[in-house]
Amino acid sequence: MCMDDTSGSESAGLKPPDPPVAPFSEVVKFHGHLCPGVTLGYCAAKIAIRELRSGRDVDEQLVAIVENDACGIDAIQVVTGCTMGKGNLIFRNYGKHVYTFINRVTNDAVRISMKEREGEGDPALKKIRERVRRKKATPEEMQKMRSLMQEDIDRMLAGPADKYFDVKHVKIEIPGKARLFNSVKCSKCGEMVAESRARVQDGGFVCIPCFDEYSRGW
Ligand SMILES: [Zn+2]
Ligand SMILES: [Zn+2]
Repeated sequence: MCMDDTSGSESAGLKPPDPPVAPFSEVVKFHGHLCPGVTLGYCAAKIAIRELRSGRDVDEQLVAIVENDACGIDAIQVVTGCTMGKGNLIFRNYGKHVYTFINRVTNDAVRISMKEREGEGDPALKKIRERVRRKKATPEEMQKMRSLMQEDIDRMLAGPADKYFDVKHVKIEIPGKARLFNSVKCSKCGEMVAESRARVQDGGFVCIPCFDEYSRGW
């Protein structure tokens, strides 16, 4: 509903309907369990598909740059089709709930960052979670935690996805498409390693685990 204040470029004309999004059940099946993290990832992925006017990625027309490696990433892979295997999911280990999506066809990019959830999170849930963490929770408290978590998840799925994220269209350098590389044999373990990741040691190729790092601190 509040697309106008994020996209800026859409005028009052008729908007095409939002592109279809994979059902949440598919995401839960892939992820293996139901949790708030994967639900938030689903919300972020829905925003991306809507803002970039793209369907699920087929052949790297979409790129995702994700800044954490938590549960939500599985939702992003299922919904947007940006996957680790295809090479259009770029992981930056910043520990931030920030997701940048790029549409290579339109050159549009959107940065989706999670808003602070403090105060919005149920204080009762917080208290029980702390007891669970310290392994002090009773079976009743475990049950209570599960039902509070389910309520939290239901709220996220029902409400507008934008409630949880700041959404900004941004200009960003578009990363190149994933490349294929030749393999070379590691002279130490004998296993094959992509040329782009191999190191040279004693005049031969070695893989990273076999490479003796030499560093003097700079
Ligand atoms: Zn999870
Ligand atoms: Zn090796």
